[in-house]
Amino acid sequence: MKQGKLLYAGKAKSVFHTDNKDTLIVEFRDDITAFDGGKKDTLKNKGSYNAGVSAFFFEHLEKHGVKTHFLQMLDNRRMAVRRLEMIPLEVIVRNVAAGSIVRNYPFKEGTKLDPPVIVIDFKDDTRHDPMLNDDLIVALKLATPAELKAMKKAALGINRLLSALLAKQGILLVDFKIEFGRQGKTIRLGDEISMDSMRLWDKKTKESLDKDVYRFNKGDVMATYNRVAGRITNAAARPAGARKKPTSAKPKAKK
Ligand code: C5P
Repeated sequence: MKQGKLLYAGKAKSVFHTDNKDTLIVEFRDDITAFDGGKKDTLKNKGSYNAGVSAFFFEHLEKHGVKTHFLQMLDNRRMAVRRLEMIPLEVIVRNVAAGSIVRNYPFKEGTKLDPPVIVIDFKDDTRHDPMLNDDLIVALKLATPAELKAMKKAALGINRLLSALLAKQGILLVDFKIEFGRQGKTIRLGDEISMDSMRLWDKKTKESLDKDVYRFNKGDVMATYNRVAGRITNAAARPAGARKKPTSAKPKAKK
């Protein structure tokens, strides 16, 4: 697959065309930002940790029937994905009260939310990603009622799968943000699922294992990302620059 022109550069990822019109390449850069881009840094190897964790989650979800954009890893920071028409919504699933809902509503941090709470924000930096409701989403023609229902159902399914997977590694999935897109009539999970887009706490110590370490200067961000990536994928963290085999390559059948 040949990488083509840049299609879009976000705050931490760049998306490129390829020689196949239905396939794009997502490159996870080493840039990290917080507070609407108010805090910015470049942290060596960060992109490869987030790419590896995202690929691991996408493969796990696909195995369990969730439709995603993931095709395969090309190297340790570039991922081939299906081209989607992205829906500008940030679908956030919350299992435990933390972050903005503690700041904006009378929840005590750490309170279990059962059933989980879904919050949907408008992905629009100029408006600071305001929270939407179902009527606004439909009135703004961001998604149809059927698409909205499908995204919420998928989000709760993804929450169950990832919560169970992370629990095996002693990690509590506090909350996470996902984005969806359309491939024809099919809604697929797009974007990424990584330490940048999830809130993860160590089950025993409640230590932050995600971007909150960067947001709130809680410690060594890259040491945390390295450790948690290894813990999540249950494999030794790869040294920087190490090439990774395409993750979706099937072993050759024995003759
Ligand atoms: O800041 P807030 O508490 O609303 O974030 C909820 C979850 O969504 C967190 O895991 C956060 O990392 C993620 N998020 C994100 N991108 C945003 C907003 C939130 O990944 N633009």
